[in-house]
Amino acid sequence: MADKIIVIGAGVSGITTALTLQLLGYNTEIVTDKTVSDISHKNKYPEFASLFPSASVIPHSVYSNRLEELFKQSQAFFYELRKRTFPGLTTHKHFEVFEFEADRPGYCDWMLNFSPIVDLTETEVPQRSDNQPLYGWVFDCIFADWSLYFPALTALYRQSGGTITKQKLEQEDISKLPSEVIINCSGTGGPLLFDDPSEDQLIMRGHLLHKSEAPLITNNTGEIISYNYMPQPDVYSDVDGNACDVYCYPRKDGWILGGSRQAGKLGQQQWNTSSDGDYYEIDDIKFPKQIIDLNNEILDNTYGLSLEYSQQLTPTVGVRYIRSTDQGLRLDQETISGKTVYHNYGHGGAGVTLSWGTALHIAQQLTSRSSSELQDLLQQQIAKSGS
Ligand SMILES: Cc1cc2nc3c(=O)[nH]c(=O)nc-3n(C[C@H](O)[C@H](O)[C@H](O)COP(=O)(O)OP(=O)(O)OC[C@H]3O[C@@H](n4cnc5c(N)ncnc54)[C@H](O)[C@@H]3O)c2cc1C
Repeated sequence: MADKIIVIGAGVSGITTALTLQLLGYNTEIVTDKTVSDISHKNKYPEFASLFPSASVIPHSVYSNRLEELFKQSQAFFYELRKRTFPGLTTHKHFEVFEFEADRPGYCDWMLNFSPIVDLTETEVPQRSDNQPLYGWVFDCIFADWSLYFPALTALYRQSGGTITKQKLEQEDISKLPSEVIINCSGTGGPLLFDDPSEDQLIMRGHLLHKSEAPLITNNTGEIISYNYMPQPDVYSDVDGNACDVYCYPRKDGWILGGSRQAGKLGQQQWNTSSDGDYYEIDDIKFPKQIIDLNNEILDNTYGLSLEYSQQLTPTVGVRYIRSTDQGLRLDQETISGKTVYHNYGHGGAGVTLSWGTALHIAQQLTSRSSSELQDLLQQQIAKSGS
């Protein structure tokens, strides 16, 4: 094994990868300019994506030709952690509902207990008015309650002997890092620190609202319900007229409501958005009205719950790093000044979702062991740690 491995970045990709390697017996050090626990004003750092995830384990808004393999590894690992009652992990019955017939994405085949919505007499199907034709499906998904899961993950990393050093790296620092193996999990910092072969550097802005003290939404068998809901494009769309979705994930500390997927380019402050009239201003943030209005209609009509603009709502705005819609996720390796650099960035809207899959992929490259062997070893180490 290499003496020491340096992981750049302390977002979910960096912490999960470093933890994986640490538990497999490597000596790792995370070098990062920021950590999630450092930051009290999230909206100042929209590009530090791990401040914001909703965080469902569904491969939304991410592009990779390895998606199926990475997702399935990640999902299997999350379910094992869930069995061990790792902090913050729950399962949701998640609906994806449309007011028009929509193509079914490939990931539907990978989700547990998938079923098309056929029986709209089911009272729990999110809908904003009765007697409206609806399409879509429902499946089980893992949900990571971010305020519990991410601190527990970081604590486990430190408890396993991993260290975190604060330093903002520049490109010229890479050759001087005291390690032969470097894992680059620097998110949008990636193309500044390393040459990036992608011509596109796409990002997607997302608005979120936290409503505190809201109840868990459950069905009559006690399962937690969450949803994505896409109305007709004349109700909510981007400037090109494509329909947009809103969503709601209940957590222990309230609801996380979204969503927007406003396209932009890294380093620019221009967004593919609709007109100013479609916004509420909350805490000086222009917030798409539909996120509140549509969620309110759905929550009221389906579950008898209310969400109003005037209520205590905390808005945040973060950026998903899509990179490219061809091959967004960068998971390759190169040699720089005699060091092997493994890249792990460009996870779009699915960095939590793919966190274990990409970490296991890198561990496989380093150890030449199979994924199932590595997963068993990791689970044993996590069990020993008492998490
Ligand atoms: C609104 C929104 C909702 C989302 N919802 C979900 C969801 O439901 N499910 C899901 O799976 N994903 C979701 N995501 C996506 C997810 O948040 C990201 O994919 C993920 O957080 C990316 O993590 P990362 O560790 O790769 O990058 P980041 O979190 O951006 O971390 C990068 C790290 O690198 C460090 N760094 C950068 N440059 C340097 C440098 N020069 N020197 C030293 N350190 C550096 C930074 O300080 C940081 O620690 C959502 C994102 C947004 C914005």
